[in-house]
Amino acid sequence: MPEGNEIHRWAARHNAAFAGRKVNVLPGPNHRFRDAHLVDGKKMVQVHAVGKHLGYEFANGLYLHIHLGRFGDFTEGLGPLVEPKGTLRAVMQRAGSGKVSRSVKGNAHALTGPYNGPPSKDDGTQPFPAEDVDWWELRGPTDCSIYDSDKWQALLNRLGPDPLAHEPGGHDEPSRAIDAILAKKTSIAELLMDQEMISGIGNIYRAELLFRHRVNPFTPGDAMDTKTLKAIWKDAAVLMKAGMVDRRIVCTKKSDRPSKQEPALRGEEHYVYRRHGKPCFVCGETILRKDVAGRTLYWCPKDQHTTKEQTASALKPGVSLRSQRVK
Ligand SMILES: [Zn+2]
Repeated sequence: MPEGNEIHRWAARHNAAFAGRKVNVLPGPNHRFRDAHLVDGKKMVQVHAVGKHLGYEFANGLYLHIHLGRFGDFTEGLGPLVEPKGTLRAVMQRAGSGKVSRSVKGNAHALTGPYNGPPSKDDGTQPFPAEDVDWWELRGPTDCSIYDSDKWQALLNRLGPDPLAHEPGGHDEPSRAIDAILAKKTSIAELLMDQEMISGIGNIYRAELLFRHRVNPFTPGDAMDTKTLKAIWKDAAVLMKAGMVDRRIVCTKKSDRPSKQEPALRGEEHYVYRRHGKPCFVCGETILRKDVAGRTLYWCPKDQHTTKEQTASALKPGVSLRSQRVK
């Protein structure tokens, strides 16, 4: 599932390509996106990224809201649109950049592969010239619909602050998130994933942030302290910004990696995420995992000071998450 870094990256790319221009917005062949005509042919003012949500703001006051969810992804391309494949939900194309016709084949080619797909030539380290994208296609989102400004504002009000929006001149700052967390009895592991507390953090960043700050993931929110929460927020902003540029989530420090290599080698990007059963890079203890509120939590029992009971509650090696969930 894309986390905030990926969402902000799409926003930056699509701002470069489409902001301030008239665009065509088309539904896929199955016409599940019935309201595309409300913004089709209109000027797209700006793309906003908040947590895991994208909002394409149009000059007529409407927003195209996209939430990629677990399976959604964009394909970007140059030239005329290509023949649609699979369950296409929506297309955005610069107005006047080619025929608005999907039957055109030609020099069009996709610039980016699917999320978790084969690596594209674009490694995300170069600035992105606007003229390099003529269109995007969207497949598999949880939501692709038109919001009016009230509905968009209601979404913003519901979401917690976003560490990636915490930049000079940005409007998000952590005090609202910190106050909300300190008022809850829920575990910090669950609160970090709660988009109403902090927006944009997913399963990888929550596990890695808790390890980096040596926090017991089962600590209730109201037993956390402001200093640690502030440090986690600051660290999240740095890690997610790096993930946005790299398109790769790397959370280990060079000095902690077994190879001491920079950039991180494969398998050395994370301290705990998906490293269950393997030795901790820092203390050598076996990394544990457990299903918490439907998502897998990973942690080091020694560095993160879990109690005997918490450590014993981890999944035994070889036991599937599914069988644990049934119990
Ligand atoms: Zn450890």
